[in-house]
Amino acid sequence: MTSQLDGRTALVTGGGSGIGRACAEELAAAGAKVLVVDIDPRTAAEVASQVGGTAHVVDLADPAAIDELPSDVDILVNNAGIQTVAPVHEFPPSRFAHIQQLMVTAPFLLARRCLPHMYGSRWGRLVHISSVHGVRASPFKAAYVAAKHGLEGLSKVIALEAAPHGVTSNCVAPGYVRTPLVEGQLADQAAAHGIDPDQVLTDVVLQRPAIKRLIEPRDVAALVTWLCGERAGHLTGASLPVDGGWTAS
Ligand code: NAD
Repeated sequence: MTSQLDGRTALVTGGGSGIGRACAEELAAAGAKVLVVDIDPRTAAEVASQVGGTAHVVDLADPAAIDELPSDVDILVNNAGIQTVAPVHEFPPSRFAHIQQLMVTAPFLLARRCLPHMYGSRWGRLVHISSVHGVRASPFKAAYVAAKHGLEGLSKVIALEAAPHGVTSNCVAPGYVRTPLVEGQLADQAAAHGIDPDQVLTDVVLQRPAIKRLIEPRDVAALVTWLCGERAGHLTGASLPVDGGWTAS
């Protein structure tokens, strides 16, 4: 049986870990050739070999490095992201700028690079991994919240411009997903409050969503992969939550 993404090439940023890794696996399972882009050479190579794709070791905060990446892709998943927690009045400006560079400017530069090929073939899919923090704020997450709000805006502008060319652009906005990023946050909060990470999970993190469990990376990747398929051709400019009902409240 032919998979829905046979013949398509997908570039996944941050493909070495967590949500990006699950996206690489799901897209490959659907038939796509996957370019795993990550700053970590070990995980990029591991995932690329697992999915039969190629590894591209790049610091996405460096615009010159982005210019070295292949541009003839049909699917772009802007996923790479990091988190720094500090109050605004103490937030290091260089760290704020770095987060915008990685989480807003890199998606812009990659879209700018890949759209001409998609326009040429009159087919393309951009999926940006946003967050609940693309529509909601939390204290101490200024850079992250600003970046995710920016990414949501960028996706909508691309959706409007790309629609006549058969190209869609959407955000997927997860709540808390079981990945190394979140496990690190749980450990940090537990250490700060002198409690167990499981207690942070039940007393803080799972207070917000209606569904009281962490989201699995493959749950996010399943929606990303569906958005890349033929049946999603009419869905653009949207932000779809995978947040267990958090933003419904
Ligand atoms: P993760 O830490 O497991 O994976 C992030 C990947 O990005 C890593 O492989 C890392 O090496 C790579 N990366 C980091 N900096 C890079 C750089 N400068 N250049 C290239 N690659 C770089 O994180 P995750 O939890 O899978 O998060 C992935 C995305 O999902 C992020 O954009 C994050 O904001 C978003 N998100 C995560 C959650 C969650 O709960 N985990 C919730 C909402 C949104």
